Amino acid sequence: MTARTTSPRARASYAELSLYAPDRRPCAVDLSDNTNLWGMPPGAERAMREIPSDALARYPELYAQSLKQSLARYAGVDASWIVTGCGSDDVIDSAIRAFAEPGDHIALPDPTFPMIPVFARMNGLTAVTVPLTPAYDADVDAVLATDPAIVYLCSPNNPTGTAFSRAAIDAIVGRANGLVIIDEAYTEFAGSNVVDTAIRSDRVLITRTMSKAFGLAGLRIGYAIGAPDLVAAVEKSRGPYKVNALAARAAVAALGDDLAWVRERVDDVVALRTRLTHALCALGIEALPSRANFVLAPLPDAPQVAAALRARGVAVRPFDKLAAPAGTPLAATRGSAVRITIGPWPLLERALGALREVVA
Ligand code: PLP
Repeated sequence: MTARTTSPRARASYAELSLYAPDRRPCAVDLSDNTNLWGMPPGAERAMREIPSDALARYPELYAQSLKQSLARYAGVDASWIVTGCGSDDVIDSAIRAFAEPGDHIALPDPTFPMIPVFARMNGLTAVTVPLTPAYDADVDAVLATDPAIVYLCSPNNPTGTAFSRAAIDAIVGRANGLVIIDEAYTEFAGSNVVDTAIRSDRVLITRTMSKAFGLAGLRIGYAIGAPDLVAAVEKSRGPYKVNALAARAAVAALGDDLAWVRERVDDVVALRTRLTHALCALGIEALPSRANFVLAPLPDAPQVAAALRARGVAVRPFDKLAAPAGTPLAATRGSAVRITIGPWPLLERALGALREVVA
């Protein structure tokens, strides 16, 4: 036997990757992760409590077929247009792997969901970022000029909360050569979606999650809507058994009897988003126009502000040096901002009180 001289090494490109590690330390009022701060829907909770033990002793459905039926009804498409996954993170990662070869480009507006460059790198792709326009829209020509195998558009966008215009989305879908992923993680709070575009096109994959409006982040359920050939390729790439039996049961319940509860919470978010935006304005902070369940509030020294808020029992997500379109409030703070999740008013009042002290 020859002597071994080297130990296993991760791929060279992994040296540039670090673990996703936002500050998740517990905090009395946690407004940092855009989950449903009213909790999980009651029917889903009941379904979890009442699951028969043999449903847990055996493997779950290979590709979550029952959940696909419920999601299809909710989205208004046939079940052959749905693929599920362990969170939409998993669905996006699987889609990138299915539709691009190592070395290809993925185009993404900047700023956007920070996991996308990570998934790109993990799959051997180059992420090419394109600044947003001053109206926080996608710059269609600049996106297409990157020669992308995949275009990623997050609308409403995280962390800005802003939505892309229908004209920009349609222009990119109409002219792109590769896959167009439209991330609708926050679609319920926008009151609009682009499912009709996916139905008309053979290159649009809409990714969604049950972690936000549906209050099931801990169960890790994501899905995508797209033409059957597209979702079949993503399903191959994601592999079997990605949605566990408990999660699938709860999700089916949430998409059934709980829908009215979910819609009421979405209405609460939309009303409180306006209320919080006005209250921030009274503090001299001009939040970006949000269509999501959070607002991005530009202010100088966001990391220090977030630390001071945390010391007062309030967690928000700080961003520093975000790419900021010229002439916007975000440019005035050089891309420094805190993102605040919308929750019940007493939590937002507590955050406002702490913020008042910190910015005074
Ligand atoms: N897409 C966007 C835009 C997000 O903000 C998030 C989570 O914050 C995700 C996807 C991932 O969601 P999930 O919990 O389904 O993996």
